[in-house]
Amino acid sequence: MKQLLLLAAGALFYTSVAHAAPQSSTVQAAGGPIRVTAIFHASTQIEYMGSVIDIDPVSAGRYTKKADIILVTHTHPDHFDPAAIDKVRAPYARLVAPIPVIQPYQQLRRPLALYPMKNGSILNFKMRSSKGAPIRIRIEAVPAYNLVRGPKAGQKFHPKGQFNGYVLTLGGKRIYFAGDTEATPEMMKLKNIDAAFLPMNLPYTMTPQEAALAARAFRPRIVFPYHFRFPFNKANTRPQQFQNALRGTRIQVRMLDWYPAPSVARAMAAMGKH
Ligand SMILES: [Zn+2]
Repeated sequence: MKQLLLLAAGALFYTSVAHAAPQSSTVQAAGGPIRVTAIFHASTQIEYMGSVIDIDPVSAGRYTKKADIILVTHTHPDHFDPAAIDKVRAPYARLVAPIPVIQPYQQLRRPLALYPMKNGSILNFKMRSSKGAPIRIRIEAVPAYNLVRGPKAGQKFHPKGQFNGYVLTLGGKRIYFAGDTEATPEMMKLKNIDAAFLPMNLPYTMTPQEAALAARAFRPRIVFPYHFRFPFNKANTRPQQFQNALRGTRIQVRMLDWYPAPSVARAMAAMGKH
């Protein structure tokens, strides 16, 4: 009986831990740790040697730091939000994005250094840390697109060739942000990925099982499931299924809190206004 009670207490403890996912995680790299912070849904902040990189900043997110580099994956409003870019950018920030994002942003005439990237292109940025140490950041644009899913026959939510995922190299570590995509052949062929961020919501991206098959193919050392709710107050797919599908592999699944309640409330209120 006592054992049973202990078991029950253990199970309760486990569930409460599972719900309280942290906001941030670190990946060790040359020059110092890379800190990744889940902001909201797909919006992620990276800190490395004092520099800040934001991926897909959105107005619902809470940002406490200004970004030196902003990466946008594609045009959909849960990824491309000009007001959020204006809010999070440092005065001399650079915006890296595919052309269908750069063009409308340019028309807003915001003073920001723009770096359009096509699938397969590479950018190398050199920056300095606050202590004067050189920081090198390499960005590779990876195709992000649907293989089968779309709003109707003959159309895809994310057509091939238009939108980007990114592989960032910082301090010798390669971090992959998939963007909105299915398990493309290009994803399956990625090499030496230290940490990957994979989307799993339907009908726009992948099922947790498809994402797990992709992870088994390209074998990232660490993987963060993200972008798994729509609307933002409902679990659209279960990242736990993704975690279960990778049990017994060497791939470490890290759960972060991608949907903090205040951000969910802001996002739902903004959707209601449309
Ligand atoms: Zn999208």
